Amino acid sequence: MHKRAFLQSSAAAIASSILSRMLPAQTQAAPRTNWAGNLTYSAPNLFEPRSVEEVQTAVRDHPHLRALGSRHSFNAIADSPENQISLHALNAIDLDPAAKTVTVGAGVRYGDLAPVIDARGFALHNLASLPHISVAGAIATATHGSGLHNGNLATAVSALEFVNTRGDLVRLSRSGDPEKFQGAAVHLGALGILTRTTLDVQPTYQVAQTVYLDLPMAALEHHLEEIFAAGYSVSLFTDWQNGRITQVWIKRRTDHADVPTTLGPDFFGARPATEKMHPILGHPAEACTEQLGVPGPWYERLPHFKMNFTPSSGQELQTEYFVPFEHGYQAIRAVETLRDQITPHLFITELRTIAADDLWMSMAYRRRSLAIHFTWKPEWPQVRAILPQIEARLAPFSARPHWGKLFTLPPTQLQALYPRLADFKSLAATYDPEAKFRNPFLAVNLYTA
Ligand SMILES: Cc1cc2nc3c(=O)[nH]c(=O)nc-3n(C[C@H](O)[C@H](O)[C@H](O)COP(=O)(O)OP(=O)(O)OC[C@H]3O[C@@H](n4cnc5c(N)ncnc54)[C@H](O)[C@@H]3O)c2cc1C
Repeated sequence: MHKRAFLQSSAAAIASSILSRMLPAQTQAAPRTNWAGNLTYSAPNLFEPRSVEEVQTAVRDHPHLRALGSRHSFNAIADSPENQISLHALNAIDLDPAAKTVTVGAGVRYGDLAPVIDARGFALHNLASLPHISVAGAIATATHGSGLHNGNLATAVSALEFVNTRGDLVRLSRSGDPEKFQGAAVHLGALGILTRTTLDVQPTYQVAQTVYLDLPMAALEHHLEEIFAAGYSVSLFTDWQNGRITQVWIKRRTDHADVPTTLGPDFFGARPATEKMHPILGHPAEACTEQLGVPGPWYERLPHFKMNFTPSSGQELQTEYFVPFEHGYQAIRAVETLRDQITPHLFITELRTIAADDLWMSMAYRRRSLAIHFTWKPEWPQVRAILPQIEARLAPFSARPHWGKLFTLPPTQLQALYPRLADFKSLAATYDPEAKFRNPFLAVNLYTA
């Protein structure tokens, strides 16, 4: 073949192969839903690029685009009326032992990452309750675990790489761009399409998990701090009935020499569980991480559920509100007044703590926080009716709702909870002046007055 014709036909072949991947990979006949199944995405098109260059092409070629992570958000934050883009194929994991960082592709989930870095002697500072969530999607909404001294998962981010509205690759780092970085780490998907994230790691560690039963809620009045300080990560579960915390899950690091791994028979009035528990009383516990004080790797204890247990679908709804820790007890009691409306529609409530941070759109921005979480039965009409009542009870504590969960707070009230919102919008305008990445969720919640 003539050289020029060959080049033209090769270029055409390459272009067509790129195009075939960049054309809507699925114009779904069957509706595409989030993990919980409570939301059917309205985006007709889903792009699944195989490289950063293909991400750039997709961004350049489309006026509206929204990244989709592992679909664990309960609201429409990841939806788009036109195009979604999933980076699940970008799954590289590059550990830098000397720098104590790991850089992950935007498709990497915590469950993929944890065993890889653990095998090389490293760990993350914390994990969410479920390991199946993508790093890019988790940090977008300030996803968190528990621990008085543990920031949310976005606080471990030291650098970000994303494709901006023009299709250019932008890199921001904590050390190089400290101001912008505080705005960009909890990104809400508003700045661009994340391609890589760098996270701090630390030497690997072991955790022992102990569960206590039936903690009197009254014990929280004077011992909230001590109770949450009993472990590296502590979660309290309640159904709001009978003035009790049904379970206390205490996760202790075995390398913290000042903290004994064994706990006594009486924990502020609660008694130790003698068998493995599920957070919801009566549910089978085999999917839960090991308990009864048996030490194990950090990533097999910090989440409540095992890595290799992949729940197929949720059949649940979630809501969560963050209040300043110092008002935690009053906030818990304020919600408790609604117990008889809440409990019939509730699987379980979880109470966790998050260290204060400086990330503009974080629910824990400049506030050490107590998070009051609700795992609801899939009964949206009833839950929808209760949420405004909970929000009203928590309004005196300036409660911030979780960005990835269900809430009904009016946009003006929501916006008032974020003192750096105007700066965040300016940052978004820098990278996305065309509002290419702004979807209806952001338009309503951040941009309507
Ligand atoms: C069973 C379950 C347990 C959970 N446990 C916890 C918990 O313990 N703690 C907690 O805080 N939350 C928890 N969540 C909520 C969850 O962590 C958040 O909703 C999180 O944002 C979901 O991440 P995802 O990867 O599924 O992203 P998605 O839900 O798909 O998207 C979330 C956001 O990330 C953006 N995004 C995703 N990828 C990219 C990218 N490459 N570039 C730009 N933006 C991107 C999306 O546009 C969207 O704005 C839980 C959810 C479920 C279903």
